[in-house]
Amino acid sequence: MNDKFIIKNFSNLSVIKLKERIKNIREELPKDNRNNITFSKNFTLSLSNYCINQCSYCYYNHRIESKKNIILLDLDNIKNITNNALQYECKEGLILSGEKPDYFLEVKEKLERWNIQNYITYIKNICDYLLDKSILPHINIGLMNFNDFILLKEFTASMGLMLESTGLRLYKNGGVHQKSPSKLPNVRIDHIIKAGKLKIPFTTGLLLGIGESFKDRIKDLLLIKRVHEKFGHIQEVILQKFEPKEGITYKPKNELSIKEYLKITAIARIIFRNEIPIQVPPNLINGFEKDFIEMGVNDFGGISPITPDFINPNKKWPQIDKLKHICNNLGYNLKERLPIYKKFITKRFFLSNRIKNIIENYSEKIYN
Ligand code: SF4
Repeated sequence: MNDKFIIKNFSNLSVIKLKERIKNIREELPKDNRNNITFSKNFTLSLSNYCINQCSYCYYNHRIESKKNIILLDLDNIKNITNNALQYECKEGLILSGEKPDYFLEVKEKLERWNIQNYITYIKNICDYLLDKSILPHINIGLMNFNDFILLKEFTASMGLMLESTGLRLYKNGGVHQKSPSKLPNVRIDHIIKAGKLKIPFTTGLLLGIGESFKDRIKDLLLIKRVHEKFGHIQEVILQKFEPKEGITYKPKNELSIKEYLKITAIARIIFRNEIPIQVPPNLINGFEKDFIEMGVNDFGGISPITPDFINPNKKWPQIDKLKHICNNLGYNLKERLPIYKKFITKRFFLSNRIKNIIENYSEKIYN
């Protein structure tokens, strides 16, 4: 089937038909995990808001003046946040930053003052520190070269980079990625492929409601599927919606409606079936959990008891117990997972021994 035919097929499916297909896909799973929705108890180390790109929808970038920027997070802060996270039994440390912050003088000066060779060494040192505390790092720091990947693979449980959208109009005059050179589709895809070649468990996904079309969304999901078929390293697909917030002047021409959000969620689940979980951040769908679960969501991603969602700080994380309660009422179980999905733990060459040892300890608690 070619993409054109698949897209046409999907656009004609009614909500009832979509729900029916999701139900059938779920029934292909063994009975004991058919009704599981997973999440990872995490905390975020937001290392630097400095970023070479200027995506119109971004609240994180250091150019947003209404918020306090981080040039580089220092060790005292990292230690404080990590110690707090340990008390809450967080197992994932999400390492987040803008792209290539070391392009900026302020960041460079800090690295020099701290006697750290470069930004990637700084990341490596933080991951090393987290691993000593048995915290599993998941990094999302933008584009990296092959050597950076090889170095950081030893110190991370998984990595991530959103594909966002390959819709070409987003890169043209007036598009949200016009001033973001590293968001060019080829560059993003190349990054995801590099991770595949190096057997790195990888998280990617789409950013919705930034000017892309329905067709673009499906094409991008099919693209991720093809990459995964070749390299087998995609561990989850996130469907994240753009949220308007103070300080951001960008307004999408056609805001993503809840109906469209649900539809693309169901289509994603149909495309990836039970091979790759579909994640929707629970803080973006407050009150609609039932609808999204019925449309195929089977993962709620990282939920933090101690740090905010730095991308959408106006959207609070739900309390884990409350979310558990909501899922239980709907006949589903909210189950904790690690930042690396279970099937990658035993896959050859996907993990360093140091990380495997930490995971083995957690696996007993979480997966048994
Ligand atoms: S690359 Fe990320 S941090 Fe940088 S401007 Fe775009 S969305 Fe913001």
